[in-house]
Amino acid sequence: MAALSDEHERTMAFADIAISQIKALRQPATPRVYELWYSYATGYNPTLNEAVNEILSRSGNLSEAEIAQIYDTHLSPARISERIDKVGSRVMDEINQVMAMVDTAVGTASSYSESLAGVSRELGGADREGLRAIVERLIRTAKDMEADNHKLEERLNASKQEINQLQQNLEHVRTESLTDPLTSLANRKYFDDALARTLKEAQEKSQPLTLLMSDIDYFKAFNDNYGHLTGDQVLRLVALSIKQNVKGQDIAARYGGEEFAVILPNTILRSGVTVADHIRRTVMSKELMKRSTGEHLGRITISIGVASVRPGDTAQSLIARADACLYAAKRCGRNRVLCESDPEVTAAESRVA
Ligand code: GH3
Ligand code: MG
Ligand code: MG
Repeated sequence: MAALSDEHERTMAFADIAISQIKALRQPATPRVYELWYSYATGYNPTLNEAVNEILSRSGNLSEAEIAQIYDTHLSPARISERIDKVGSRVMDEINQVMAMVDTAVGTASSYSESLAGVSRELGGADREGLRAIVERLIRTAKDMEADNHKLEERLNASKQEINQLQQNLEHVRTESLTDPLTSLANRKYFDDALARTLKEAQEKSQPLTLLMSDIDYFKAFNDNYGHLTGDQVLRLVALSIKQNVKGQDIAARYGGEEFAVILPNTILRSGVTVADHIRRTVMSKELMKRSTGEHLGRITISIGVASVRPGDTAQSLIARADACLYAAKRCGRNRVLCESDPEVTAAESRVA
């Protein structure tokens, strides 16, 4: 219960911050704007916060176009934006209703104080009967106000629960939007954001970072022979093999159709090659069988390219070098791991140069 109520306090505090920002910057209280400021308040999405802070420090406010741009870049994978809108507008409805009730309550309290002021004027000339009538009227008004307060309190509690639930839905939709549904690995969007973030961190702290790019060997032929659905099972199996060999802050993602990428923060090239080789061995150790028919499908293999961050690298240049290693691994016969210091890769590089 304590954990639930802590969580509740936390989400309400984030909601408060979001609403205050919207008010302070006089922005339209649309679901998107609310979502942007809610995410900002949680701090879960540091690149969003950096983008917002950068604009705020430059111009003091966010224009509609800047809000739309930040939303699109950091929050809105197209396929789920509609669902987020729906949840967001329910949050706004709920908040608007509570605001309206708070307004009514404030109205009741001020009419009560007005009637108290009236009473104090009447008291001067009142006789015994007059006093009794005044006191009864005061008691009635106070009881009405108590009942109103009680209703408001109940409504506020119900709203808090509703908003809490909606926030959880939003978090869930967000996680879903960053996950590949077939393999449950991180999707390309998550990967792109994560690589930008971890690369920046590595460069700032002068720490190593290694990237693995992998591709299934002869997968087209496998699909042609056994069908796309069986091919999809193989993608799950490769994803599982990757998960079994990464840990902690490592980030494994489905980069494209049958290509997978792994970011290894704080990891030097040699250690990255070791991880890659474990993944490669795990994949080839599995004997594939079609569940429905028991048919043996042999084994599949993957090739992996490994590159480590260099000074001045961008996400693009690091990916390009890991990719070059991957292609070298394919050229050298597949089912192998090659890194940028391997002679097969450096020889190819010098040919290109
Ligand atoms: P290589 O060893 O050179 O990589 O040969 P390959 O046949 O694997 O060639 P490529 O990497 O170009 O193969 C891409 C194939 O991957 C095309 C398609 O059949 C398959 N593929 C891509 N995405 C999916 C997917 O989501 N599901 C399934 N079942 N197959 C996919
Ligand atoms: Mg491919
Ligand atoms: Mg392939």
